[in-house]
Amino acid sequence: MAPKKSYSLETELVLAKSNDQHNASVPPLYQSATFKQPSLSNMGEYDYTRSGNPTRTHLQNHIAKIMKAKQAFAVSSGMGCLDVITRLLNPGDEVIAGDDLYGGTQRLLTYLNKKGDLIVHHYDTTNTELIKSKISKSTKMIFLESPTNPLIKVVDVKSIAEYAHQVNPDVIVVFDNTMMSPVLMTPLDLGVDIHYESATKYLNGHHDIMAGVLATRSTELAERLYYVINSTGCGLSPFDCWLLSRGLKTLAVRVERQQDNCIKVAKFLENVGFKVRYPGLKSHPQYELHNSMCSGYGAVLSFETGSIKLSEKIVESTDIFGIAVSFGCVNSLISMPCKMSHASIDAKTREEREFPEDLIRLCIGIENVDDLIDDLTKALLKSGAVRVNDKDELFNAVPIQPKL
Ligand SMILES: *Cc1c(COP(=O)(O)O)cnc(C)c1O
Repeated sequence: MAPKKSYSLETELVLAKSNDQHNASVPPLYQSATFKQPSLSNMGEYDYTRSGNPTRTHLQNHIAKIMKAKQAFAVSSGMGCLDVITRLLNPGDEVIAGDDLYGGTQRLLTYLNKKGDLIVHHYDTTNTELIKSKISKSTKMIFLESPTNPLIKVVDVKSIAEYAHQVNPDVIVVFDNTMMSPVLMTPLDLGVDIHYESATKYLNGHHDIMAGVLATRSTELAERLYYVINSTGCGLSPFDCWLLSRGLKTLAVRVERQQDNCIKVAKFLENVGFKVRYPGLKSHPQYELHNSMCSGYGAVLSFETGSIKLSEKIVESTDIFGIAVSFGCVNSLISMPCKMSHASIDAKTREEREFPEDLIRLCIGIENVDDLIDDLTKALLKSGAVRVNDKDELFNAVPIQPKL
């Protein structure tokens, strides 16, 4: 029997076939900037690592497969992806972007808007009808994220992408899938043109490199993306490509474990009485919509305590949860977005977008979940957020109403 063309994702992640000349079990690292030409007239497959490197090619072919794309590219960071994508646009082009995008995305789009390179309109992309009414023939690109981070708002990606292509067949719908990863969502199946994500997060999973990946089914877009990547020199370095290939192998098991842990932590915090934002909770207003697009919920949640001071105390009282930005790592992290990852969004804009200043974000790792809940219990008691002493009782506790 001929081998199957493709297997399930878990199998594909570890299979990653390469055509190494020595049949090395792990595709080798080509830590070389240049490649000798076979002759003066024959350039060979590779000549210069900015343009191409076998370690990067191996990674990119692997990524294309797991993202269900025709072609994929690996660049130096998630923001590097966005830089490459925005360079596809012409001066003065109009773009539509969500109003709750990643802080760094917001910063780059604001910069390009201020310089007059692009006209950027921000809207609440959870309001599908509003977005549809704003899409016109002059809309050249649409930037979407779902669920957003850390407000965990869900966007109807399929409806928006379908409608946008009806209005303007040339529009490029761009989707940042960092929050879900290809294990839980394949946005190209929902009609987006470019799927990108920060590989610094789940794809690599160990917080030891920065990387970004882009994927598309359009040969024309792939050519244009490659042109920019080769011209600007942001292709991922061979060593980082090698590390990312290694990290990818455990993506499915990591995400599965992180998500299992996160569901338990979310239920715990909800039972304590906090307002928890997590798409895996039935209380999430867009639970059904999220389920229609994704096969899971990820491992990032946020919750409000009612007081900035109290939130600060909780964040500073954990042991296992490290105070750090980012997510998708094997370790659990805790942060206050307004003071950390989203501090680059000015306070007025945050207020307009109903961004709670007391919001705590948890990014759940692969630790034992009982240890994680014990750590949170200790932090809630130490900070004075709750008053009972026993974890089981805490499930039925009412949080102390903080004095603002
Ligand atoms: C982290 C992140 C990025 C940026 O990626 P870097 O690798 O840090 O440059 C973009 N989008 C989202 C949703 C992210 O979480």
